[in-house]
Formats: sequence, structure tokens, C-alpha cells
Amino acid sequence: MRPTLGKLWPGKGDALITNRRRPIAIIEEDTSPGRHDTLIAACDDYRYGLLGCRDYHDNCTDNLHAAMRRIGLEAPECPSPLNLWMNIPVAADGSTSWGEPLSKPGDHVVLRALMDCVVAMSACPQDMLPINGADCQPTEAHYRILHGPR
Ligand SMILES: [Zn+2]
Repeated sequence: MRPTLGKLWPGKGDALITNRRRPIAIIEEDTSPGRHDTLIAACDDYRYGLLGCRDYHDNCTDNLHAAMRRIGLEAPECPSPLNLWMNIPVAADGSTSWGEPLSKPGDHVVLRALMDCVVAMSACPQDMLPINGADCQPTEAHYRILHGPR
């Protein structure tokens, strides 16, 4: 996605790109400040282990695979995600950090599919870093699927 976008944070009017470099969806609306991460892989149980979690921790990778199984599909791997509202500041020296979201409750993004596709959305259960807020408390995320012209 980043080679086509030419930037780190996709915004209104930008297309999301498949692993075969075809536009799969476009961002039609975005009421947030537009900071959506494209650098960080989906969280997984290994990530939480590296953060010191000794027991199983819910994670976006397992959420994806569970959702796909529910509809009779299997993802061969967890793809590089579009992390909506995840703020990963990038400093001039290239270093990254875990920022608090810049979005506020009620912000929304509208994606328009440009081809048949399966979209999986995981409200990231990350509660060990501030990506879900300074209190490290994940919140609900909701979605609707609309059909036809808007
Ligand atoms: Zn996650």
C-alpha cells in the first residue's frame, strides 16, 4: 500500500491496495485527524509475550482467523493491516513510538469496496501500550456494511 500511496498515513480519497497491487477499496470519508497506521503488524500472542504477558492474550491475528473460520474461509496468513486510528509517530531519525490515538469517540471512516472482498475488523485488545489511549483500555469499534450507491 505504501509504495502506491507514497506516504505512511492513508486519508480521504486514497485507495487501499491488495497484495497484487490492485485497488480494493477507497477511503471516502474520515472524520478523524487521519492518523491511521500502515507500519505495524497485527498484534498476536507472541507480541504480548514479548511485552511480558505470561498467559494467552486476545489479539487481532487470532480474531481474524476466528472470524474467517466463522464464514467458512481460511486466511493463509495475517495480512498487513490498515490500523484505523492507530497513531504511530515517526521521528525525523526514523524511530517510531506508540502514540495515543488522535481520534475522538464518534469519529468514523467510510471505505467503499472497489471489488468483491472480505473485510475483517478487530477492535485491537492491546492493553499494554497506549495505542488505545493513555489508560491502555481498548474500546469498542463498530462497523456497518452498506450496499449500493450512497
Ligand atoms: Zn491488535
